[in-house]
Amino acid sequence: MIYLDYNATTPVLPEVMNSMTPFFLKQWGNPSAVYPFGENAANAIENARQQVANLIGADAKEILFTSGATESNQTILARTTGSILTSSVEHSSINDFIKTRDQTISIPVDTNGLIDLNYLDSELNKNKIGLVSCIWANNETGVISPIQEVSEICNKHGVLFHSDAVQAVGKIPIDVSKTPVNYLSLSAHKFFGPKGIGAIYIRKGSPFHPLVFGTQEEGKRGGTEAVPLIVGFGKAAELAKKELKQRSEIMCNMRNMLEKSILETIPSAYINGDQHNRLPNTLNIGIPNVDSDMIVQLLGREGIMVSNGSACKSQAITPSHVLLAMGRSYEQANEALRFSVSHLTTEQEIKEARSKISDLAKGIAC
Ligand code: PMP
Repeated sequence: MIYLDYNATTPVLPEVMNSMTPFFLKQWGNPSAVYPFGENAANAIENARQQVANLIGADAKEILFTSGATESNQTILARTTGSILTSSVEHSSINDFIKTRDQTISIPVDTNGLIDLNYLDSELNKNKIGLVSCIWANNETGVISPIQEVSEICNKHGVLFHSDAVQAVGKIPIDVSKTPVNYLSLSAHKFFGPKGIGAIYIRKGSPFHPLVFGTQEEGKRGGTEAVPLIVGFGKAAELAKKELKQRSEIMCNMRNMLEKSILETIPSAYINGDQHNRLPNTLNIGIPNVDSDMIVQLLGREGIMVSNGSACKSQAITPSHVLLAMGRSYEQANEALRFSVSHLTTEQEIKEARSKISDLAKGIAC
């Protein structure tokens, strides 16, 4: 298998698996129990909290563990009073929630997928807004939003700001001590941690209202903690921090190699999204007159895993709202393929994928 869909999910690294195993087999105590067997588990959670905090420049007390970023996003949105302003290129875990609310405003993006900062500023001048939420890096195009500017505009207006940083964390540096966000959503399985575990960064002093009530997590989220998953999340965060620069260089080389070779073999192909403000691992490319659904399926049969949008939407054959928001036509949205590499991607994989893609694209172009 050649896996080029790391934005959908990543495997658990061996070191991460090794860190988790003892918490399944030996140290399986309940972290709320007051005897040492329980306290060991509680200490492991606190260690992981520190590791996750270190990855984004936060204080450990500002990290709240959740079941993943869908829960993180919806916890912040659900407990907001008043209007919510979001970008028009959010992940479905934000959009699907937003549909349940009346008072929402969508901020347009330009043809490169970058949020309109003037629009944001004027909406905040005109309306009383409870929360602004803007994705840090887009899962489909890899476009990195101007989060520093967005957070400063929100700060200027005294409006709370949340960012879904799922695709950015572990791929580009994030430092909340420099970027004044109130809340961030994180997910372990996007950077070689286990699935089913995530976090919310909650800046000290920012209001927070639980969605699930209970005594755990200092009353911020009820339910017995998923200790092994939390430990794995911590380990994945530690490795991501340590290897960030090195991983980023490899990803960028592999992505650029793939991009160059596709553009050379299919000269009419075009890139979706800002090429300067883009994750080092993501390539969203349109191949004119090609049905990307068909290509994804045919490549899959050849053992090459790619996507034509977000994994969460692939069951629903609707054109990407992200590409439509960027002014692409329905036809263009339907001819887009997403490749996402990682530091585990090899040159050999890129070469094989490239030749299969060009064969297929030539064969089925109408
Ligand atoms: N936000 C973004 C940008 C994502 O890519 C994803 C995962 N596809 C999520 C949120 C949801 O994360 P999780 O799978 O942890 O619920």
